[in-house]
Amino acid sequence: MSYDLIIKNGKVILDTEAVVTDVAVTNGKIVAIGADLGEAKEVIDASGLVVSPGMVDAHVHISEPGRTEWEGYETGTKAAAKGGVTSFIEMPLNQLPATIDRESLNLKFDAAKGKLSVDVALFGGLVPHNLDRLNELNEDGVAAYKCFLATCGFDGVDNDFRNVDDYSFFAGMQKIAKMDKILAIHAENALICDELGKVAQAEGKTSAKDYVASRPVFTEVEAVRRAIYLAKIAGCQIHICHLSTPEGVEEVTRARNEGQKVTCESCTHYFAIDEEQFETIGTTAKCAPPLRDKANQDRLWEKLFAGEIDFVTSDHSPCPPDMKIGNAFTAWGGISGLQNNVDIMFDEAVQKRGMELTQFAKLIASNPADLYKLADKGHIAIGKDADFALIQPNAPYTLAAEDLEYRHKVSPYIGRTIGAQVVATVLRGSVIYDKENGVRDTHEGAFVLQNAKETVQ
Ligand SMILES: [Zn+2]
Repeated sequence: MSYDLIIKNGKVILDTEAVVTDVAVTNGKIVAIGADLGEAKEVIDASGLVVSPGMVDAHVHISEPGRTEWEGYETGTKAAAKGGVTSFIEMPLNQLPATIDRESLNLKFDAAKGKLSVDVALFGGLVPHNLDRLNELNEDGVAAYKCFLATCGFDGVDNDFRNVDDYSFFAGMQKIAKMDKILAIHAENALICDELGKVAQAEGKTSAKDYVASRPVFTEVEAVRRAIYLAKIAGCQIHICHLSTPEGVEEVTRARNEGQKVTCESCTHYFAIDEEQFETIGTTAKCAPPLRDKANQDRLWEKLFAGEIDFVTSDHSPCPPDMKIGNAFTAWGGISGLQNNVDIMFDEAVQKRGMELTQFAKLIASNPADLYKLADKGHIAIGKDADFALIQPNAPYTLAAEDLEYRHKVSPYIGRTIGAQVVATVLRGSVIYDKENGVRDTHEGAFVLQNAKETVQ
């Protein structure tokens, strides 16, 4: 028999070990793993390469429709393909209208038609005033829900995403629990961060360090604690997004040890850039929660290695370049990082700090896929989608603006020398990117939707 594709001679990251072996694919699925598999229509020689499950980036903002000038499905998913990200879960905010009901979800499906280079799963939004719409999002296949405890959305912009009040947060969790879904949470104390920011600006403070100081560690920890406490009473499984502090992670670990269903993520940028570098790079490295100092970053690495952080995401949150102009308070808070998760984390975690390949694959692919029940994703194993990132280790390159597939060639990593490269990306058995030919124009991506278990009123 002949397979569609065999990837030969690569160091393949399986769930429990990384071994030099071959992987065979038919009809987009992994069907055999081992030596001497036989014939295939297409053969990729991956000698000297690491064959990783394609990244499942569980935190990406695409901004289409409504703010397509910020990013968009065409450019965003091409950047994912080039970066070894074969699927991502898209956030319900930055696009207009925000994804908070059936109607807005359908607008998104329409907007993405024919534009996806990788697979996309979806978060539905929990905002004030959409408690009675959560169920329709579930029926239409969102993987999970997302809310903000920090201030979010522009005043005066219709249909922008807004942060929850305490009541909608709590009541929303009760509803989400009944659907057996997860609520992902941006955890920072809204009022304290806002007011500290105003005080700092009134005092004429404008620097990166001033901005970091206006969102101190305790504002993250307090929101994490509050979320965990209310989730326990509501009986809802929660996930804390983009933790920037080891103290925040410790809250999650404590609750988990006490038996509560809670997980957390951090982002590539918290491991790759510290506060000093933020000062040098400028506002392209502004995000919330903010980048923190080296000592904080070192301890965050310890938490990552210890398995206390479930996975790493990009929190890719681009905007037009003119919104990044200004000072550390006035510039848009979001980092474009989707294209450089895999290479930077491989360099920083595996090459520089000795992380096992199996742990690396869990952090970028298996754990997010498992948490959000993306059953076909995240593992190199028989029956799973044939999604791969082929990584060339010890192949440093310096990222240039023109390397980026984003709508705007803006990234805090421009000029950074990254010690490894994604040289090919495979989505359900099709090569969607390779270094020689670039990202294919075939748009083979699709939405990954989940069937609702039951209707909840
Ligand atoms: Zn985000």
